[in-house]
Amino acid sequence: MAELTPRMKELVQPYLAGIEPYDPNFTPTRINLSANENTYPVPAGVREAIDAALAATPLNRYPDPMSNELRDELAAWHGVTRENTCVGNGGDELLYNYLLAFGGAGRTLLNCPPCFSEYAFFASLCQTEVRDVWRDPASFELDQAAVLAAAPECSLAIVTSPNNPTGDVAPLDFVAALCDACPGMVMVDEAYVEFADDSFGAATTAQGLIAEHPNLVILHTLSKAFGAAGTRLGYVIAAPEVIDAFAAIRQIYSVNVLSQAAALACVRARDAYAPVVAQVASERERELCALHAMAAEGLPVEAWPSAANFVLVRTPHATHVRERLRDEYSILVRDFSYAPGLADCLRITVGTPQENDEVLAAFAALVKEEM
Ligand code: PMP
Repeated sequence: MAELTPRMKELVQPYLAGIEPYDPNFTPTRINLSANENTYPVPAGVREAIDAALAATPLNRYPDPMSNELRDELAAWHGVTRENTCVGNGGDELLYNYLLAFGGAGRTLLNCPPCFSEYAFFASLCQTEVRDVWRDPASFELDQAAVLAAAPECSLAIVTSPNNPTGDVAPLDFVAALCDACPGMVMVDEAYVEFADDSFGAATTAQGLIAEHPNLVILHTLSKAFGAAGTRLGYVIAAPEVIDAFAAIRQIYSVNVLSQAAALACVRARDAYAPVVAQVASERERELCALHAMAAEGLPVEAWPSAANFVLVRTPHATHVRERLRDEYSILVRDFSYAPGLADCLRITVGTPQENDEVLAAFAALVKEEM
C-alpha cells in the first residue's frame, strides 16, 4: 500500500497526513497460515445451514440496523440480554468505534505492546494519544505493576487476552484491578478466547467482571474460532449504558443482511465448532512441542506458550526464512521483524494437521540451512 502523495497530504486533515496504512502483506499461497483464520473445513451441516439462511435473505431491504435477531442469539449464548451486546462489521469496526466514542483529542489510550497494531492505528485516526506500557522483552508477560501505575493517567485502555501475537492470557485479578485504576473504559479484546480453555473460552473470559466493573467491555469476533473472517462480524459485551454509546455512534447499516444471516447460522451451530476448536488447541500444543524439540536439538528456535490459534517463534534471519517459506514452499506466515520488540519473530497460525506438518518440516529445514 502506498504512502499518501504530497497533494493528498495537503488535502487530508493535517493530523492524518502521516498515518501509515495497515498492510498485512498478503500474497496468495498454497498454505496460508498468516492471518489467524480457522483453516479447518466448516463443520458438517453448518455450511448447508448458512447457505439456506443466505438463500432465504431478501436483498432489496435494508438490514435490521441493530441486528436484533443476532444479538438475541449472541446474548443467549453468553448468558446476557440483547441490551448487553452490539455487533459490528468485524471486531475492527468495534475497535474503531471504541476509540471514536471514548478516545479523541486530549485523551490517552493505555496500550500494552507488542499487541495488535490496529489499536494504535485507530487511536491515531481518532486523534488519541497512546501510552505504551511494554511487555517484558523476554517473556512478553504484561508488566502488571507498570500498567496499573499508568492507568490513572489514561482515559481508556485495551488489554488483549489471549494476546496477539504473544499468545498469553491476562489474569482476571489484573483485569479487575485495571478497571478500578482506570478512570475511563477498559476493553478486553477476546478475539481468540475460544481457544484458551476446554470450555470454549468460558473459563478464561473476563465477562464475569462486568457486573462489578461497569467500565469493562469485552470484544469478540466470529473471524477466528467460527472460521467466518469473510463474514466480518464482531460484537461487544458490556453494561447496557456502554452498549448505548456503541449503538449511538455506529454506522447505521454496517452489518449487511448476508453477514447477519450467516453469523446467526454460525452462532446457532456453535456446538459443532467445539471439536474444531479443541483440535486447533491440541495441534497448537503439538506444534509448540515440535518447536521446543528443534531448540533442544540445537537449532536457533525460541517459541512461547500460546492460548490462541497461533504460535510466535523467533529464529535468526526470520524475514528471509519467511520469504523462503513463501517462495519455495508456497506457505505464508506473518513476519513481525519490523515491529518493535519482535525482532526476528514469525507468527504461525495453527492450521490442519497436514498444514502443520508441512510448515514444521519446511521451517526446520530452512532454519538449518540459514545457520
Ligand atoms: N482483535 C485481535 C487481537 C485480532 O487479532 C483481530 C484480527 N486479527 C481482531 C481483533 C479483529 O478481527 P475481525 O475484524 O476480523 O473481527
